[in-house]
Amino acid sequence: MCGDCYHRGFFVFPTYWKFDTFAEELQQKVTYGPLQAVACAANFPDSIGKPEAFYRCPSCRETWALSSPDNAWRGYFLPMHMAKTYLRDTQRKAFIRGIIRKILLLAIAAYLFWKWLH
Ligand SMILES: [Zn+2]
Repeated sequence: MCGDCYHRGFFVFPTYWKFDTFAEELQQKVTYGPLQAVACAANFPDSIGKPEAFYRCPSCRETWALSSPDNAWRGYFLPMHMAKTYLRDTQRKAFIRGIIRKILLLAIAAYLFWKWLH
């Protein structure tokens, strides 16, 4: 992170308009410098939120990962190491939410069954 690329990352693009504005600025930084679009060697699991583009800043040597918003997914633009952590945490939270949802459904089904028996 530096003055040439970005001072901070974006954990979410709350609106399409915000992403549109960001994407225009990013395109300017790629077209006129300093950012360079690069291929990425890092492994990301195939899942929602997997970054689709990577950019390198020659000034601070940061590699940025971009995941565009898509329906409910709100995207991000973060340094590589932060993107990996963010994606892992997001997937972990989704997994835990899924388990809690299943436990609640099971509890409701057990309660209804118990009510039906009595
Ligand atoms: Zn930089």
